Amino acid sequence: MIATPQQLADVLRPVKHVLLDFDGPVCSVFAGLPAPEVARRLREGLLATGAQPPAGAEGQCDPLALLRLVSDARPDLTEIADAALAELETEAVRVARPTPGGESVLHACARSGRLISVVSNNAGAAIEAYLAEHGLSDYVVGIFGRAPGDPSSMKPNPRLLLEAIETVGAGQEHCVFIGDAARDVEAGNAAGVPTIGYANKPGKNLKLATAGAVAVVESMYFVAEALIESRS
Ligand SMILES: [Mg+2]
Repeated sequence: MIATPQQLADVLRPVKHVLLDFDGPVCSVFAGLPAPEVARRLREGLLATGAQPPAGAEGQCDPLALLRLVSDARPDLTEIADAALAELETEAVRVARPTPGGESVLHACARSGRLISVVSNNAGAAIEAYLAEHGLSDYVVGIFGRAPGDPSSMKPNPRLLLEAIETVGAGQEHCVFIGDAARDVEAGNAAGVPTIGYANKPGKNLKLATAGAVAVVESMYFVAEALIESRS
């Protein structure tokens, strides 16, 4: 089920524009400031403004799922919750853990003449801050974080991917998406681009393959090597 170097190179050969998920393939956003802590602070922030978080919010430890929940139950709180989460994510990326091989993929894209866009459910401001902090801003042509105040833009919605594809103009047949969640593969399928699944945890391999990933890798280093191997 794990792609061979040859299979991976075959997938990447026609690719001119790499679409890259952020949390997972580039770094672990909540490795230093844990997700449950971020979710707790997000709830507290809402309470501090006098807003009562909706039912079910208390038990939600995933900050992005919490944002979606708040937005679904209380659309009037969407904007304030999204802005508060964007700030917390920006704080989190300062202590995020870089993914082994993540930077190598950015370097390999540059070396093999491919463009790279980051397409993520995280806030664009947080992604920008991380890339700047790690000296990687110049490797990326576009950052497509969730639309501020509109969590419905998040994957599995293909909207952010389609925006990135449209902006760069390489055409779906010259794009690939790399993500670590089934919702990434679903978004890729809906946008008409093949998705490489990054299985960074046990059990993800099967989930990504079942969702329809064209290839699954367990290390971003393999993607970097295949990018160099398949350059035209
Ligand atoms: Mg991810």
